[in-house]
Amino acid sequence: MPANDSSCVLCGKPLVRGNKIAEEINGTVYLFDSPDCVVLLRKLVSVYGPEFCQIFAN
Ligand SMILES: [Zn+2]
Repeated sequence: MPANDSSCVLCGKPLVRGNKIAEEINGTVYLFDSPDCVVLLRKLVSVYGPEFCQIFAN
């Protein structure tokens, strides 16, 4: 079972109903607990390149 289904891929906080955000980055959908984490991961990917977000994709 994928670990990413129940927690934010960036900060690891548990996802509860109402705060779950699915966002596609470079063709892969990631789950986040807040818009702040979406923005932060997008910034990190833009700085470190597309391979960076692959460490979160399991
Ligand atoms: Zn988060």
